Amino acid sequence: MYEKPNPSGNRSMPSGLALLRDPALNRGTGFTEAERDKYNLRGFLPPHVHSQEEQAVRVLSRLRLLTDPLEKFVALNALHDRNESLFFRVLCDNIDEMQPLVYTPTVGLACQKFGHIFQRPRGLFIGANDRGRIAKLLRNWPYQAGIIVVTDGERILGLGDLGANGMGIPVGKLSLYTACAGVHPQLCLPVTLDVGCNNGAMLEDPFYVGLRQRRVTGALYDELLEEFISAAAEVFPGVVIQFEDFANHNAFRLLKKYRDRVCTFNDDIQGTAAVALAGIYSALRITGAKFTEQKLLFLGAGEAATGIADLVVSAMVAQGLPESAARERCWAVDSRGLVVKSRTDLAVHKLPYAHSHAPVGDFLTAIKNLKPTAIIGVAAVGGTFTQAVLEEMARINERPIVFALSNPTSQAECNAEEAYRWTKGRALFACGSPFDPVKYEGKTYVPRQGNNSYIFPGVGLGAIASRARRITDAMFMGAAQTLAQLVTESDLAQGSLYPALPRIREVSAHIAAAVAETAYENGLAGKPRPADVAADVRSQMFDPRY
Ligand code: NAD
Repeated sequence: MYEKPNPSGNRSMPSGLALLRDPALNRGTGFTEAERDKYNLRGFLPPHVHSQEEQAVRVLSRLRLLTDPLEKFVALNALHDRNESLFFRVLCDNIDEMQPLVYTPTVGLACQKFGHIFQRPRGLFIGANDRGRIAKLLRNWPYQAGIIVVTDGERILGLGDLGANGMGIPVGKLSLYTACAGVHPQLCLPVTLDVGCNNGAMLEDPFYVGLRQRRVTGALYDELLEEFISAAAEVFPGVVIQFEDFANHNAFRLLKKYRDRVCTFNDDIQGTAAVALAGIYSALRITGAKFTEQKLLFLGAGEAATGIADLVVSAMVAQGLPESAARERCWAVDSRGLVVKSRTDLAVHKLPYAHSHAPVGDFLTAIKNLKPTAIIGVAAVGGTFTQAVLEEMARINERPIVFALSNPTSQAECNAEEAYRWTKGRALFACGSPFDPVKYEGKTYVPRQGNNSYIFPGVGLGAIASRARRITDAMFMGAAQTLAQLVTESDLAQGSLYPALPRIREVSAHIAAAVAETAYENGLAGKPRPADVAADVRSQMFDPRY
């Protein structure tokens, strides 16, 4: 088990230039007079001491002069590499403005251009050529990792195979673990498994950072994964491993294979599910309709859709509906039409939602046939919630639930303005990427992001704080309920189905406490239950202020 991190990890405290060049410890012009004496910093810094607050203002004012989001991403990365605490202070205090820069949508572009904007490495790259030495490689990491976010880069957001360039995602996610939930930066380890890349544009790009080969598949791939998971559990006992942006054909089976062996979850499947379920609970607080009477139609039948449907089914069963009836309330349209029993081309994860129905080729016809109360877009195909789709939803529902969850913004099924205009302001709308408030017929609607960033930071913190041995569906159900309970009446009055993002640390602390409680109750915690679980969680949150 890891101990609480000390500020210099396993190393002795550096001084002088070495201290200024250590991003985990550097405070730049923020070092006080006493610290300048103590750490032999005299002469290296200009004389005036700036408070961290003043440094943050300086960073922000420079950042806001930049107009290109990718340039802002690069500038923030450079700050992360220079002065970690200041980076997180800027993030925490301006999360509304910063999250779209360090995460979706900008991170999508940053991954596409990863090799072009590369400055300093962060995290660990483990290549297909590292077989047999992965444990040794993990031991190079100077800290005791508490959480690993790992990708193989095959399905980065809705952008497809970006290979080793996908490293932007684990790095960005872990920044949010720290900013949104106070998981200590030294507990966070981003990992990219570079098993090759099948995207020709990447392989031909002279600045591509990964192995110049096609993806390793089959037994070789599985052996590499097995070695990585075993090595991670050995080198960092109790570590939480979050799978991220793996393609369908690996995501489901890896989760199934490892979820009962190590402390792991797949955020695309389970985190998305919890955030969507929370959004549905909020929407129903507005309509007053019964949860078990909802009918959901997904556009897309991949990780996000299946994950959401599975959690909705569990939640409906918990409210007394038989499982088969609950499954009948979830339908999906994939690239070949409505998922129905008679189809012979269905991947195994779609089968639980293949119902008896005549084949239907397109989404609009499916809506007309099924009359769903909610449509949930998770196909990563932009613009698919057309005017006709939204008008039909508004025709059959007084308050249609419309979630356009695909990322990044270019892949969103519709934008917020379209959602409100084409339903005459009646849509209960959430979106995967951020959209500005919309004014429609005198009323201002404030859409909030149905993004798993409301869920995973708190889940990770709760698992770390309780030293959970497993992460279970019950934890995600609890996370969804907790998130929905934190939505205020004034949020709902303006059409917001999630709490305001600046409340994210409070939200994450509540979710973490709920997750930890579940771990203690179910005998999954690695330490005795503290008298005050919420206080124990909060005491472990990293505060970037100095
Ligand atoms: P996935 O690859 O597992 O699934 C995509 C699904 O869409 C597949 O079933 C595919 O058959 C289907 N599809 C493709 N083209 C289609 C079309 N034209 N019409 C209908 N269906 C089509 O991907 P995923 O992990 O499920 O992610 C999908 C999208 O959801 C991505 O854009 C991702 O960024 C987004 N997402 C958002 C969040 C969030 O928090 N908002 C979380 C996870 C995923």
